[in-house]
Amino acid sequence: MPELSFDWIAFDREHLWHPYTAVESPVPVFPVVGARGVRLELADGRTLIDGMASWWSAIHGYNVPELNRAAAEQLERMSHVMFGGLTHPPAAELGRLLVEITPEPLDRVFFCDSGSVAVEVAIKMALQYWQARGRPEKRRLLTIRQGYHGDTFGAMAVCDPDTGMHRIWRGILPQHLFAPAPRCRFGQPWDEGDIAEFRRLIREHRHEVAAVILEPVVQGAGGMWFYSPQYLRRVRELCDEHEVLLIADEIATGFGRTGRLFACEHADVAPDILCVGKALTGGYLTLAATLTTTRVAQGICSGEPGVFLHGPTFMANPLACAVAAASVRLLLEGPWQERVARIGQGLRQGLAPCAALPGVRDVRVLGAIGVVELEEPVDMGRVQPRFVEEGVWVRPFGRLVYVMPPYVISPQDLAFLTAAICRVVAEIGG
Ligand SMILES: *Cc1c(COP(=O)(O)O)cnc(C)c1O
Repeated sequence: MPELSFDWIAFDREHLWHPYTAVESPVPVFPVVGARGVRLELADGRTLIDGMASWWSAIHGYNVPELNRAAAEQLERMSHVMFGGLTHPPAAELGRLLVEITPEPLDRVFFCDSGSVAVEVAIKMALQYWQARGRPEKRRLLTIRQGYHGDTFGAMAVCDPDTGMHRIWRGILPQHLFAPAPRCRFGQPWDEGDIAEFRRLIREHRHEVAAVILEPVVQGAGGMWFYSPQYLRRVRELCDEHEVLLIADEIATGFGRTGRLFACEHADVAPDILCVGKALTGGYLTLAATLTTTRVAQGICSGEPGVFLHGPTFMANPLACAVAAASVRLLLEGPWQERVARIGQGLRQGLAPCAALPGVRDVRVLGAIGVVELEEPVDMGRVQPRFVEEGVWVRPFGRLVYVMPPYVISPQDLAFLTAAICRVVAEIGG
């Protein structure tokens, strides 16, 4: 990109929307002109240590030689071609990797554009499955509170209806069923009472429930909560017992973030439908996938209209697939387990002092995810610039200050990041 000849930062302020913001936001937007390793380079020359991995996606950091090479090589061949009636090596290679590394028996891959679309596709698969099986009344979803599944209408309808971002849409969205959020924490003794309300709901509504959808073990944007894998095991058992499909949304948790390649592995369960996205391309390009089993895929195609009716224009974009395949290979070939474990240790140590600070409700860590939960929502107009002054990129959300850095972060950079968080959190409460 050549240097721009106009005031692009002013143009942004006047004309560009940013995620979840007002057009004239009091929270500043910071101009980034490059990124390398775990560092973002601002237009004024400052660098920030990245704690967010660009919302879970940049697991290898930025400007990764292996991914750059994969993108450049694919660009020389073709950056895109339609997937209707055509196929190509990047799609096959990525599909093969996904079938190999995701829980058995997921072996049918549907590529789509983004996480939200992957969730839409998963919901459509579940509904079309029961429709084809002659049970069209099974068309509601059961989920758990505190969930987040995306911003499109189908996905919004299964986000937390009260605390989520989409409560103004009540009355417009389809009415699904919500069980209480799991209370048993990850790593703590299991209490059978935790599943009671979920059990009651699935029993009572099994005739109309097509699928359960949830984020396994880690609830992301809806609360950054880590719950007992035993809960997920019970959900799997209850789904089988009541003829309900299980959709696992691993868009945030997939590709090692929780210490297992997929969070379902903590509970040793396999979903009937799995959504992946975010880290799929190592944060390079937008791509997601919905995987299902041959049983569900054949079920869908056994009834009217005999095909799965979905097909995005940019389905299986070759450039994105080539980078994704390179990213998955890079992950599998590297010591990701040790890196994630080491980050977990560094977060536990580095964030521990926050627990004693006023205004802090809880500090928790799982895999390479660290969360400081506050009593009150943070004042972003004040706090966001403070993190930048500290030389780190941390983007709080509501009452949550959380980080999930690229796996390649060094112990020194991680210590720098957590020390900055401690200082800023101390100011918030003090
Ligand atoms: C981010 C996210 C989504 C939505 O993905 P987009 O790519 O933003 O559409 C869905 N589910 C979970 C669990 C997510 O973290």
